[in-house]
Amino acid sequence: MDKRSVRSIARERIAILLQLADREVRRDERLAQRYVELAFRIAAKARVRIPRRVRRRFCRKCFTPLIPGLTARVRVKRGCGGTRVVVTCLRCGYVRRYPVLKKRGGPAGT
Ligand SMILES: [Zn+2]
Repeated sequence: MDKRSVRSIARERIAILLQLADREVRRDERLAQRYVELAFRIAAKARVRIPRRVRRRFCRKCFTPLIPGLTARVRVKRGCGGTRVVVTCLRCGYVRRYPVLKKRGGPAGT
């Protein structure tokens, strides 16, 4: 199989796994984490990039789908450096900060 089809299959699997993780997180977090971990592993192996806005929805440390009010705490902080969104994973405590740009185009950052 050529690399291109490997990647498109990988992408498809990643999408399915992340969807399952989102669905499963309310019932079985462990299972959800396993789906996310698997999706990330497939991505790394197939060298597929998961879009930033998708990646942000999952804790990269413990692979928990980050659902505000359930598995994540989301705070908006305004400071001299601009507005930032602070997302804390309530399962492992991992904190991510995203700068929010005021101009059109939505949030930017890592
Ligand atoms: Zn976490």
